[in-house]
Amino acid sequence: MKTMGGPTTGIVYDPAAKTHRTGLWHPESPERCDAVMGALAAPAIRERTVDVPSRAATESEILLCHTPGYIERARRDIASGAPMLSTGDTDICRESWTAALCAAGSVLSAVDAVIDGKVANAFCVVRPPGHHACPARGMGFCVFNNVAIGARYAQTSRGVGKVLIADWDVHHGNGTQEAFYEDGSVFFFSAHQSPLYPGTGASDETGSGAGRGTTMNCPFPAGADGEDIVGAFRDRLLPAASRFKPDLVMVSAGFDSRLGDPLGGFRLTDDDFAELTSIVLEIARDNARGRLVSVLEGGYALDGLGAAAAAHVERLAAPQPPPRSSRVRSEPRSQDLCGHDRREWRRGPLGSRTQGANGGPMRLFRDSLPGGNREMS
Ligand SMILES: [Zn+2]
Repeated sequence: MKTMGGPTTGIVYDPAAKTHRTGLWHPESPERCDAVMGALAAPAIRERTVDVPSRAATESEILLCHTPGYIERARRDIASGAPMLSTGDTDICRESWTAALCAAGSVLSAVDAVIDGKVANAFCVVRPPGHHACPARGMGFCVFNNVAIGARYAQTSRGVGKVLIADWDVHHGNGTQEAFYEDGSVFFFSAHQSPLYPGTGASDETGSGAGRGTTMNCPFPAGADGEDIVGAFRDRLLPAASRFKPDLVMVSAGFDSRLGDPLGGFRLTDDDFAELTSIVLEIARDNARGRLVSVLEGGYALDGLGAAAAAHVERLAAPQPPPRSSRVRSEPRSQDLCGHDRREWRRGPLGSRTQGANGGPMRLFRDSLPGGNREMS
């Protein structure tokens, strides 16, 4: 890759990510890193991206989002050789502590590079993922909430005011929502499958106290496609972002919302991920001087994960986001679904398309693991 020098797209990857081992057959595997980095090695991507050095987050930086009690508990669990965090369904090994610190630190490196203008935007290839990790509890394959720590770091150490986090992982980012639910300085938007793990993210969860109105959830049934999800980003997120006016845009980029993922039932294509990328870039360009940091979350079909991440980064690195005139939607399906109670759309035409998420592959996954019912990130 090129050396850092002018505004372009930065890629942050720390090899410690591969040392976090989760056991044979676990879908959140070290091979996910190879799938993404292999896809990002394509010449067309390499020539428009630069490597951004990673670092480990300090414990005081982890404290920006997590309680001292949880940090100590995670450290103890990992040091003990336990196979799983005692707070939830996150498999661990003795190297997981360093890997988790480097996952969060990779995001902090990306924030620094973007705020300092060394790159226009950045994509962080990290594991373990983060968006299910709550302030006092790791769960759902996640130890620390990488994107939430990055948002807090931007605010407390880099003088950033308001941060918008957009989450297109097929699962609801419950940890991120919890971290900022009463905080009006961080807007959290999620489009996710419901019902599905972790069970949160109803459309009436909109924040409370000072954070009232700065959480926005768009749950969709299994079978939702680009028309639905891209539509939600266009019809719901864009106007909300115009009102919120973030100083930094962050993305929880989960690619388990892609067609064919074993843990999700959405049907997004690589072109859809490029469209989603254009929308968040538009928000960043119009409000935040283009400053955007994207962080890998889920994505468990290795070939699909690589292809979707490549489509995402290609669009991040494109000189100009293309006009969106090509997408013509015949009816506002997302508006019919978003903002209404889930009981309404469960009866809707998409409600019957439920194969995938709770059926075959995930059930096989659960059954194959000792300890039984571990839904997943
Ligand atoms: Zn996920």
